[in-house]
Amino acid sequence: PLDIEELGRSTWSFLHTMAAYFPSKPSQQQQSEVHHFITTFSKFYPCPHCADDFRERLKEHPVDASSRRNLSRWMCEEHNVVNRKLGKKEFNCELVDQRWRDGWKD
Ligand code: FAD
Repeated sequence: PLDIEELGRSTWSFLHTMAAYFPSKPSQQQQSEVHHFITTFSKFYPCPHCADDFRERLKEHPVDASSRRNLSRWMCEEHNVVNRKLGKKEFNCELVDQRWRDGWKD
């Protein structure tokens, strides 16, 4: 059966990791492809109310694919909107590379 929480964890893991490994200086084509990918993703994410809200947010907070750093931050902010909506703790977006790319500094 479809488990919205498990689907969410796996999907965020993929989306943040994709952003973490996006090029630092993406070409116009790479920027437009990521834009297209996220727009299309938002139409097929198999949690209808999650996808509806995500599409609404994309209108007000369009994807920023101008660099790896900006895409990672954009994704973090999107995830924080969902965290707030679900009453979860917000994530400090300064730490997004440590979480999804470099590993925690100790
Ligand atoms: P998750 O929120 O899945 O987070 C996984 C891990 O990501 C965390 O342990 C943390 O290490 C890290 N993390 C947390 N916040 C951030 C951040 N801001 N930036 C970077 N890393 C972070 N569920 C609903 O019930 N209703 C919805 O409307 C809804 N909409 C969703 C929309 C999208 C696009 C996605 C991908 C998921 C959505 N979900 C929704 C699922 C929800 O966001 C969670 O994935 C799910 O509730 C499981 O939460 P969790 O506490 O296990 O951690």
